[in-house]
Amino acid sequence: ATPISITVAMGQGARMGILFRNAEAIERMRDIDTLVIDKTGTLTLGRPVLTNFIVKGIADDEALALIASVEQLSEHPIGLAIVENAKARGLTLRPAKSFDAINGLGVQADIDGERVLVGNHNFLAQHGVDTQSWHHQAEALRTEAKTVVFFAVDGIPVGIAAVADPIKENTPEAIATLKHLGIRIVMLTGDSQHTANAIARHLGIDEVLAEVLPEDKTGHVKRLQAEGRKVAMAGDGINDAPALAQADVGIAMGTGTDVAMESASITLVKGDLRGIERAILLSHATMRNIH
Ligand code: ADP
Ligand code: MG
Repeated sequence: ATPISITVAMGQGARMGILFRNAEAIERMRDIDTLVIDKTGTLTLGRPVLTNFIVKGIADDEALALIASVEQLSEHPIGLAIVENAKARGLTLRPAKSFDAINGLGVQADIDGERVLVGNHNFLAQHGVDTQSWHHQAEALRTEAKTVVFFAVDGIPVGIAAVADPIKENTPEAIATLKHLGIRIVMLTGDSQHTANAIARHLGIDEVLAEVLPEDKTGHVKRLQAEGRKVAMAGDGINDAPALAQADVGIAMGTGTDVAMESASITLVKGDLRGIERAILLSHATMRNIH
């Protein structure tokens, strides 16, 4: 039978917006020594806005209309930011044919017979497009913690767009208190190394794994567990779900996808990361009562 103290702790957690799936979730939280944490939508709001748009050899509006026409079929936050900006500028989106989205890399489609690619430099490189001429400007934007995407029309790299995704208001405090508890924090993201480093530096996170493909997130959790660490993983996306399930404790954002919540043993209702430290303290208090 579930000890009364666990039931009480689950009720206390619920009142603080921390939903434990079961007694085990509370018990395991006590032993966690490492937190692997997704960037977009977990440390940040996950609602990026377009901040920079630089093109060469093509009109601004024409380029934005083309890439927004591709992104209108994407569910990625970067795609939403681009489409929102194009609409705000009053641009008309055109129908996209042969749309293809590659998780963690980018999207492509035919717009009026032109092949349009939007994504990170690896995605364009995979399609034989060299983005070298844009790297200087891209690095400067990444230093400002912005995420940069490249785009090409019929194989020509015509420009870059940058989006900024604000850090959640409570994230700095949440990270600081976890570090104070002695928890080792590892940021895991599909974003570029430079952008990830800029955010990590700002938050005081020392360990960063960047340019990680969605399917490789689980492997990183397993590797840390193989080193003998007790790992909690926090994330919000469909991409995070397998890693949340693999972790000793998976922590989903209530503001994120259903798939993430179904794979996790704790859900933070409002996505407030201060709930992680509170869950650890609750676990210690509860387990003290049991033993
Ligand atoms: P994260 O781990 O930060 O949530 P993702 O794995 O979703 O990142 O994506 C990694 C990178 O792939 C993005 O930073 C972006 O460069 C590129 N990307 C993915 N989807 C798109 C898209 N729809 N449009 C443009 N770029 C994209
Ligand atoms: Mg995310």
